[in-house]
Amino acid sequence: MTEMTLSIIKPDAVKRSITGKINAIFEDNKLKVVAQRMILMSKHDAEKFYKVHSERAFFSDLCEYMTSGPVIVQVLQGQNAVIKNRELMGATNPENAEEGTIRKKYGISVEENSVHGSDSLENAKIEISFFFSNKDILSY
Ligand code: ADP
Ligand code: MG
Repeated sequence: MTEMTLSIIKPDAVKRSITGKINAIFEDNKLKVVAQRMILMSKHDAEKFYKVHSERAFFSDLCEYMTSGPVIVQVLQGQNAVIKNRELMGATNPENAEEGTIRKKYGISVEENSVHGSDSLENAKIEISFFFSNKDILSY
């Protein structure tokens, strides 16, 4: 089924100028970038976006990190886009990520792991609408 998922290229990857390399992985694996924008997340945005983690010990560090520099928010579209993107990303901790995944290749630590991807179709819809309106999404 053709789906859409939210991806974020996180500050560590933007800072190292590897956004093109990451987008190439999506495009080489039949995930189309159908919306994309560079933003600086506010503290408020980060806290809201990651509110499911608000009780976790790493929450404030995570929000600090996600606001430490620009990120690229993007919508990826393709067959089974949600799970496909999660597979391309690899495990949360780059040390545990499979060879060839984005996090294995580029992640620095469990926090600075280069990319975000929605974890379910339901969350993808919520997360896409957090950053984009329907008119921002241009399928091709
Ligand atoms: P994922 O991004 O793989 O869905 P989670 O939803 O569990 O992972 O966590 C959200 C983000 O919080 C992670 O991508 C990572 O940046 C950060 N994070 C997760 N676990 C830790 C941890 N133990 N210490 C520091 N940061 C973490
Ligand atoms: Mg998650």
